[in-house]
Order: sequence, then structure tokens, then C-alpha cells
Amino acid sequence: MSNSSALLSAEPPVSKTVDHDAAWDRVRRRLRAELGDDVFSSWFGRLELSGLSGETAHLSVPTRFLKSWIQSHYIDRLRALVFEEFIGLSEIAITVRSATSKSAPKTQTHQNAETTTRDRMSTDRVQNEVSAQPERVTTSETDSLGGAPLDRRLNFTNFLVGKSNQLAHAAAERVAGNGIGETPLYNPLFVHAGVGLGKTHLLHAIAHETIAQGRRVIYLTADRFMYGFVAALKAQTALNFKERLRGIDLLVIDDVQFLQGKSIQQEFCHTLNALIDSGRQIVIAADRPPSDLESLDERVKSRLAGGLVVEMGPLDENLRIRIIEARIASARQHQPNFDVNASVIAYVAKSIVSNGRDLDGAVNRLLAHSTLTGGALTVEAAEAAIRDLIRAREPRKVKIEDIQKLVATHFNVSRADILSSRRSAGVVKPRQIAMYLAKVLTLRSLPEIGRRFGGRDHTTVLHAVRKIEGAVAADTGLRDDVELLKRMLQD
Ligand code: ADP
Ligand code: MG
Repeated sequence: MSNSSALLSAEPPVSKTVDHDAAWDRVRRRLRAELGDDVFSSWFGRLELSGLSGETAHLSVPTRFLKSWIQSHYIDRLRALVFEEFIGLSEIAITVRSATSKSAPKTQTHQNAETTTRDRMSTDRVQNEVSAQPERVTTSETDSLGGAPLDRRLNFTNFLVGKSNQLAHAAAERVAGNGIGETPLYNPLFVHAGVGLGKTHLLHAIAHETIAQGRRVIYLTADRFMYGFVAALKAQTALNFKERLRGIDLLVIDDVQFLQGKSIQQEFCHTLNALIDSGRQIVIAADRPPSDLESLDERVKSRLAGGLVVEMGPLDENLRIRIIEARIASARQHQPNFDVNASVIAYVAKSIVSNGRDLDGAVNRLLAHSTLTGGALTVEAAEAAIRDLIRAREPRKVKIEDIQKLVATHFNVSRADILSSRRSAGVVKPRQIAMYLAKVLTLRSLPEIGRRFGGRDHTTVLHAVRKIEGAVAADTGLRDDVELLKRMLQD
């Protein structure tokens, strides 16, 4: 008895009361009313109140991705609502709960699993994406449609052209140079590329250029589109919203892979059709081609693919050198003593191959090194300054053992459970997910994977892979989970 109460008191959240449940219910209802069903269920449907402690409300979601998204997009609104409905609270904490322990009553293992997940992934791409350095956001074309701010520095002059992006760049210039009243040639223009390869830069450049010609532009991220539209629906100004959208010359939508929800998609499709049919230009960016946007329905995909689809590839070495040089030149406007010789530039360009964002990071390291030490920037010094950046970015060889460990932790079972012959649902699902991940993340054959999973037959592995493929296509919650695990294993 005393043991168990000691255990309980070590848990931060105290259990909820009926009043708390009622207050939480009001928070959820208000969020739903503000955001609409689609946005609400995409991001908040699985947000739960796990308890309260002191002045803190403890909330939980099933995936790291959801946590990160809520934190970067909705945290202020969520905090405000929670504080209004729960008198006396001043803090909220969101944690990732493990998939097997469904909800509220917290157990000790649950707590451990959370900590592990938190520690393993200290940063998250989504969060990085969104927390753009604020000083760079210098201008805003925000209007009543909820357009996102534009970054002045992301213009055509600063966009360097190489083999990998020349087609996209040419198309972008063509689109931006299209005269008023001319029928757009490439509509929609759909640009896709991996993270940090210049999509947002190119989109902003098109927007700046078009605005400079006195045309009306709106730049939206996918979630702003969702939010703006749903908010308009709620306020019964949807018609107005659509009409205003149609009153513009160029609609730019970034990161369209995040667009979700049936009615949102319908509206998105109507908007696309209406704008294209009335000769307005649309420019879209995503991290994959239209055909791979699983969450979009066929009609939307085919409309997106109906204009010009261009991919931007990895930055080649020469382009990386030029981007580094450009970054150094702009840093020198504030730090005239910042001097980087050609061999250091060549070294950085050879070492950082991933993307433009990491090149920015490397130049910042060099700048910090040179201003803090005042010493000459040798190749050795540069190597030390960017070492962790290189190491962190080297593509990791994923090991089956790591997959098993991580999946076990994530689902709150043991690795031995995964290797065992137990057939309970709580173990079968993580086991199948682990086998699936082993197939897609490693080069191991099915028989080899079977052997590594407690001596199973290759047909069992194949079955698991098919099963998870099917389940991921049908269940967005599971897809988030699997995506998250993949990212954690590869980062
Ligand atoms: P994405 O939207 O594709 O993830 P961004 O457009 O945010 O990538 O680019 C990441 C960083 O790399 C930005 O600072 C951007 O200015 C820079 N960058 C990418 N490609 C280029 C390029 N061709 N020329 C100059 N800077 C680039
Ligand atoms: Mg981007």
C-alpha cells in the first residue's frame, strides 16, 4: 500500500476529476468550433488530457509529429483556451504517449517510454521548418485571407542556379514574368524537392516578383489554407473567402503534402479549378510529386499534375560553393573581418552535401568561430567547427537491432516480446511494424529478416510487410507513427 502510493506520487499529473473532464470537453468543443471538423480532427482529435499538477495541464498525443505540429502551429491558441477553462493554470505540457497504453491513467512504464522518446528526438524537422529565424522575416503580404509572411531575402537575385534546379528556376521566372491578362503557360506550376533544396526560396521569389509588378498575390502554407478556409466556413464568410481568393492573380501554396481532410480537399480542388479556369496562376510546392501525395484524392492529384511538374535535385558541389560564397558575402556586410579562404570553402562544400539549410548552418558556425576566437580560419579549424554538423547528417545505416529496440520502446513492449512467438495484439502489431521497417530501411532479404526476428519464415515477413503497407494507407494515425519511427531511425 505505502509502496504503491509512493509510486503514484512520483507521477507528476494528479488524476482528473469530473470537473476537469468537463473543462477539457469545453476546450475541445471550442477548438473544434474555431478550427472546423477537418482541422480539429487532423491535429486535435487524439489530444488527451492526462492530468493536472500544480499549475500545469498535462496533455498527450500519440505521435511526436502531432506534438511538434501542435506546438509550432496552435500552441498559443491552445494555451489560451486551457487557461480560460481551467482556472488557476498557467502552463501546459504536451507529451507523446506510447501506443499501447491508450490514455489517461499513467503507469510507470508509460512515463519511462515517454522520456525515452523525448530524449531520442530532441529536435524535429517540422519545428525547425516553422521556427524560421525571425529577423529574416522582413515583409509581410499578410491580408485578411491569412497569407503567410514573405522573407525579403528569398528573391530571384539570391537564388543561385545550377544543373539541379535550372528547370525549376526557368519555369519560376517564366511564371513570375507572365504579363497581366496573359494566359498562364504552366498552370499549376508544381515544384517538388527534398527538404532544404530551395522550394520555399523559389516560391517566395515568384511571389516577390509578381507583387513588384503590381499584381495581387497570396502565399499560403497548406495549413494556413486549411485554417483560413475552415475559419471562413465557421464565420459563414466562406463565399466571401472564395471570392477573394478568386480576386487574386497568383496563389502560391507551400508544403502541400500537409493538406488533409476531405472537405478541405474538395475546397482546395474547387479553388484550383476556379482559379485555373479563370486564367489565374497557381504555384505549388511539396516534398514529393503529385502522384505520391497519398492523402490527396485522385482528382486533386491529377489537377496538380496537369500543369508543369518540375523536380529540384540535390545541390551539386559547384552550386554548394556558390551558395556558401554568397552567404559569406552577406555576412561580411555586418562582419567585415569575416574572411574565409577558398580551401575552407571547398572543404565545407565537399563535406556538407545534404541541403541549403545545412550550408547556412555551416556558415554560421564558421562565423561564430571567427568572431569568437578572432583566429585565422584554417581548414582544421573549419573541420572542428562543422564536425558535428557533418556527423549528424551522414546517412545512417539502419540496423535491424535498432529498429527492434526503437519500435519496442515506442509501443511499450520489450525487444524480447518482439522476437518471441507471443501472438497477443499488443505484440503482433509492433512486431509487424518492425519487420516492415526492416524491409524498407535496410537491404536485408526477407529470409534474413525472418531469421533476425526470432527465426521466422520469410512468408511471415512478407505477410507483415503487406499488412503494414495496407494499414498505413488506410490509417493516418498509424502512418504518422510509422513515419515518425522512420525519421527517428534515419536521423
Ligand atoms: P525547402 O523549402 O525546399 O525546404 P528552402 O527554400 O527553405 O528549402 O531552402 C533552405 C535554405 O537553402 C534557404 O536558406 C535557401 O535560401 C537556401 N537555398 C536553397 N537553394 C538555394 C539556391 N539555389 N540558391 C541560394 N540559396 C538556396
Ligand atoms: Mg520549405
